[in-house]
Amino acid sequence: MHLYTERIRERAKELLKARKVDLVIGYAKGSVPMMNQPVLIREPEKAEILHWDSHCGLNLCNYLTKRTEKIGIIANGCNSRNMVTHILENQVKREQLYILGIPCTGMIDHRAVARAVGQRNILHVEESEEEFTVRGKDFEERFRKKEFLQRNCAVCTHHNPVIYDEMLGEAVEEPAVVNTYSDVESIEAMSPEKKWAFFSQLISKCIRCYACRSACPLCYCPTCFVDESRPQWVGKSSDPTDTMTFHLLRAYHCAGRCTDCGACERVCPVGISMRQFTKKLNKDAKKYFSWEAGLSLQERPPLDTYRPDDYNEFIR
Ligand code: SF4
Ligand code: SF4
Ligand code: SF4
Repeated sequence: MHLYTERIRERAKELLKARKVDLVIGYAKGSVPMMNQPVLIREPEKAEILHWDSHCGLNLCNYLTKRTEKIGIIANGCNSRNMVTHILENQVKREQLYILGIPCTGMIDHRAVARAVGQRNILHVEESEEEFTVRGKDFEERFRKKEFLQRNCAVCTHHNPVIYDEMLGEAVEEPAVVNTYSDVESIEAMSPEKKWAFFSQLISKCIRCYACRSACPLCYCPTCFVDESRPQWVGKSSDPTDTMTFHLLRAYHCAGRCTDCGACERVCPVGISMRQFTKKLNKDAKKYFSWEAGLSLQERPPLDTYRPDDYNEFIR
């Protein structure tokens, strides 16, 4: 059992017993391997189902929106950054949260593992610090975790929680230099026609299931623009223009807010890399506003700040 699983269970049990929190939000083992699921528990004895390993890629902040109880919650780097975003956007109060911080070493890309075993049916996964073993009916293979990280985790520079009430382990060292945006740079270098062709191809398989929207903690509007009918902002079909409108608008709604947690890509049933949209906006937020989402409770996000004397000419 992962060391953090034990600690999470222990602390969740204590916090619930002492009534310091009304519920704990964490992960439970999924019904299929490599897909742990978010879980909300209210009874101390249920703490036994809490679980932590390198398959906790869904973002728990989805379950914080508009809650009024006192909440215990697990936070690695990206989860904690979305907590900051939720607090800044008045979706939850800092004092409602008791944050159990986890230094993160990255999540495993389940699709890359499936490819590596030739899409054979994986029935069991076991993990040690650096490696993991997958087993099926008639095969067993061992891989190095570092070589199978989710794309966002491979370029993550905030593995440790930025806010927490207690840490459940020693902070991990953050990587010194990571070229997070090399993929965006190569798209920026394309001609407008090539860019259009690139993004059209990228979303060509989209079935408009909205799993990416549902998994994203930023998408909490009571009625999403795609579901509005009066006025209808965008068609409901999988016509390429409607689909592109959905993706472009969704990305812009995440501008200056996306923490690159990767939950959207993780859940897409057809494997679309829609982070190519949000990463460009993250890059621009950094370049033009020196802003990375969810790092500070003290600063307002760039898109809800306006100063008539702003030193950036392009704003005035
Ligand atoms: S983005 Fe960073 S903090 Fe989030 S799961 Fe990946 S490595 Fe961990
Ligand atoms: S857009 Fe994707 S990567 Fe960004 S916060 Fe939402 S789920 Fe995470
Ligand atoms: S999860 Fe994938 S298929 Fe579903 S709407 Fe999002 S991009 Fe399209």
